[in-house]
Amino acid sequence: MTRDQYTLTDPAKLYADIEPHAQRQPEPGLDAKLDPRADLGEETYRGTGRLTGRKALITGGDSGIGAATAIAFAREGADVAISYLPDEEQDAQRIAGILRDAGVTVLTLPGDLKDAGYCRDLVAKTVDGLGGLDILVNNGGKQIFNDDLTTLDDEQFDDTFKTNVYAMFWITKAALPHLKPGSAIINTTSIQAYKPSDVLVDYASTKATINAFTKALAQQVAPKGIRVNAVAPGPIWTPLQPSYGQPEEKLDEFGKDTPLGRMGQPAELAPAYVFLASAESSYVLGETLNVNGGIPSP
Ligand code: NAD
Ligand code: MG
Repeated sequence: MTRDQYTLTDPAKLYADIEPHAQRQPEPGLDAKLDPRADLGEETYRGTGRLTGRKALITGGDSGIGAATAIAFAREGADVAISYLPDEEQDAQRIAGILRDAGVTVLTLPGDLKDAGYCRDLVAKTVDGLGGLDILVNNGGKQIFNDDLTTLDDEQFDDTFKTNVYAMFWITKAALPHLKPGSAIINTTSIQAYKPSDVLVDYASTKATINAFTKALAQQVAPKGIRVNAVAPGPIWTPLQPSYGQPEEKLDEFGKDTPLGRMGQPAELAPAYVFLASAESSYVLGETLNVNGGIPSP
């Protein structure tokens, strides 16, 4: 089946041949070890110059949704800096190679988002290395399932909030002074913000926070010409899920309960980020774009 942005295709059949199955990786998972492999749009995404000359920072740009977004941004003409954990160097280098093939400047900036100093440094190094910043994608995230709150240790609760919420705050705060009118901030939230799973109490709470942060900040910085929006993915095939993001047995059915009856691929998310980053969405602010296979969402 042809898979690209242009061919008329039945969305229920698209990718339906890529079946999930139970598997486990240590956290953070690697795209390189995901079976079957995810589609990041490596072979298919075709840019049309929508982000020519822009400078983007994407956290979690080594794999999954962040990597698919990085590929799309680079092919739309943007220079791209990606942030990821040092353990993910293998994934990051593969993505960096694909971005460089698009002819843009690429920065690989490993470190821990739980560290405020790293977050601030990340913005400074991006501005230095790319010569500015006008697109910020806060996408890095931690999701570890837990089925009993009495066993959810304080450290996990803290780490999930640090990674998903505090890092977004630290990075956005450091980035704002550099963002000119026309710049865009895009935060990755989740269907979990509205339909929280019983085993993702901490994670789902961070995703609801990200939605509120997005809508509040969007109003605050609108007069400066900076647009803040969010993307809320549904079940997407990325290393986050088999690295303790879900109980292993749930992966067999991953995405089957969506109206389309299948899980999504990172390549299906990237165009949403391109839309929100580009001037095409000039009147879209404080919005959450749901890309979830049809699950009803507010
Ligand atoms: P992913 O594992 O490919 O990406 C998450 C990335 O977060 C990792 O690659 C890693 O680089 C980064 N990260 C995690 N902890 C970090 C830390 N302490 N320091 C630095 N980087 C860190 O998985 P993904 O599914 O593409 O996740 C991207 C975003 O999408 C996350 O915010 C996730 O919550 C969100 N999301 C995913 C799904 C899904 O089904 N996969 C659904 C809804 C939302
Ligand atoms: Mg990764």
